[in-house]
Amino acid sequence: MDIQYLKGIGEKRAKLFARLGLFTLEDLLAFYPRGYEDRTDIRDIARVSPGESVCVRAIVGAPVSHHRVRAGLEVYKTRVFDETGTLYLTFFNAPYIKSALSTGAEYVFFGKVTGESERLEMTNPVCEPSEKAGRSTGRILPRYRLTADLSQGLMRSAVEQAFAKLPEDPGDMLPDDLRKRLNLCRYRFAVQNIHFPQSAQALALARRRLVFEELLVLQLALSRLKDGRQRQPGYALPPADLSDFYASLPFRLTDDQIAAVDDCLRDMSSGKLTHRLIQGDVGSGKTLVAAACAVSAVRGGAQAALMAPTEILAEQHFETLERLFAGLGIETVLLTGRLTAARKRAAREKISSGQAGLIIGTHALISQGVEFHRLGLTITDEQHRFGVRHQNVLSAKAGDALPAHRVVMSATPIPRTLALIMYGDMDVTVMRGMPPGRRPVRTFPVTEEMRPRIHAFIRKLVNQGQQVYVVCPIIEDERELGFAAAEDYAENLRAKVFPDLSVGLLHGRMAARKKEDTMRAFTRGEIQVLVATTVIEVGVNVPNATLMVIENAERFGLSQLHQLRGRVGRGHLESHCVMFLQSKSETARKRLEIMKSAADGFAIAEADLALRGPGDFFGERQHGLPEFKLADLSADMELVSLAREEARALARSPLPAALEKAVGTLMKNLS
Ligand code: ADP
Ligand code: MG
Repeated sequence: MDIQYLKGIGEKRAKLFARLGLFTLEDLLAFYPRGYEDRTDIRDIARVSPGESVCVRAIVGAPVSHHRVRAGLEVYKTRVFDETGTLYLTFFNAPYIKSALSTGAEYVFFGKVTGESERLEMTNPVCEPSEKAGRSTGRILPRYRLTADLSQGLMRSAVEQAFAKLPEDPGDMLPDDLRKRLNLCRYRFAVQNIHFPQSAQALALARRRLVFEELLVLQLALSRLKDGRQRQPGYALPPADLSDFYASLPFRLTDDQIAAVDDCLRDMSSGKLTHRLIQGDVGSGKTLVAAACAVSAVRGGAQAALMAPTEILAEQHFETLERLFAGLGIETVLLTGRLTAARKRAAREKISSGQAGLIIGTHALISQGVEFHRLGLTITDEQHRFGVRHQNVLSAKAGDALPAHRVVMSATPIPRTLALIMYGDMDVTVMRGMPPGRRPVRTFPVTEEMRPRIHAFIRKLVNQGQQVYVVCPIIEDERELGFAAAEDYAENLRAKVFPDLSVGLLHGRMAARKKEDTMRAFTRGEIQVLVATTVIEVGVNVPNATLMVIENAERFGLSQLHQLRGRVGRGHLESHCVMFLQSKSETARKRLEIMKSAADGFAIAEADLALRGPGDFFGERQHGLPEFKLADLSADMELVSLAREEARALARSPLPAALEKAVGTLMKNLS
């Protein structure tokens, strides 16, 4: 049934609901509250204190008085009492209140208590006659996400009506035996109590059941996608002998690197389509893993493409790999937007003729006019910077019947439980180890008094020929927040602190070209101190940069701080990371202490998840996972594993129809 036929709604108001994506009664029931207002606490007046939101049951002690303060501001006042005390009520612009409250009658009032303990007050409380109370007071009320002109009252009434129309036995997408075994309540009870909880306990039961359902459907959908892919055929590329390639490197691969290469080569030779994520901390040496896979693919008769999110990164990969590959008789070409038209044309020709074995580039690789010869492997670096769609497009560029194998690399360590969800549709290899001889970046949380010393330190390093990053959390237009703003900050450094040094600025609002130019100048050493927002996060290598200064470090997630810190310590020189702490909060200080002692990105990620929840991680992947309606991955980890186990068991046989339908709908949204 359509929302517009509900009482009090109609065609016009139905449009407001439509703005929230709500069209049918089903939609309404699945539109869970974003929070609740607990109005169950009914207290004696003597036992309330200013600042609390409570209900009191009290008798009106005087007729409501009325003053006009000025045009448009009418004030109504009265006082109410119970056996224990008196409470003073004020209402603004509420003419109806004069007739709503009769002296001597009892009501239940709900509101926030203000005033002093000698004279307690409530402003604009909700009131209900005592004998009819229980709709707006004395219970837990849902709060919904709204849109302009739509009130909580109207939304509540619509949901209430929708629920009233739900049949006594509406069915349940969870099979009975599973529900009983896991102690999950019925669907009907769950919807009722997620919207209008009879008690905090009932709400918890309802929530648990619905979160489980949400996670179960997601896991089933993800595993279907993964299975579908595993059945999808891919080029069978036999693993090549890579001993000459390994011998040409100045160092030996780490065990983790070798294991990662093995995983990929095994996938690629299986005859099934590869879709593997290599997750390895900053500096763990993912580039060489990519390179080894590329060599193997080329030797199997295919082309390999390596796509990076920025031109500089693509150029750096090109510089690293071109010579190495030439030594093996493999031609490498670079294709980025920055090349001259003639060079682009030449690159495209080498790609389409098959002369190029390895193709390195940016988004330009998926632009029209690039035709591959026999693209067998695509590798995406810093995968979180690309949408899923980009990766699909590149892989489909293979042109022939089969899409290319996909290996994606990410330097963002993700806690295991989260990875199961975020990457449920991929196979995952984790590289935890680091190449030998890495020196940890010495990390110091500092406060404002240290600023002069840090400035002196910056100058000393620059005089020694080294370079410095300074990262600020935001850019100019948030100035009023009082946080360091990159633009002002750079201006100040240039004008007052380091007038003799070359200070550059890099932020997200600059044109892409300008950003690239600035970053390039920094890699060449033409900029000595680079003030930047987090746009520098992505894997650019400037071995000469040895100090990372982070302003307002408390505003970053730990994983993000770890990423930023990974920008230094990439050469032989000792490196430092200084994190300015502007907040005085104890938690903020504790978080930064974790950074000081922990060097392992995975450990930091786990700590971050516990401290801040999963939001930061999800932000990283523009993956097209739907937003969770209820599940909160930091609080509901137990349900994540439970849902995963059950999904595995359920997937073995056909699903009950209702569950099948939910899974099917979600799969459509995911792909
Ligand atoms: P990331 O995983 O962050 O992409 P890179 O691939 O950029 O890391 O590697 C970081 C640095 O480590 C590079 O300078 C690279 O040459 C070096 N490196 C990679 N593998 C090894 C190894 N096995 N032994 C020593 N150094 C290595
Ligand atoms: Mg890298």
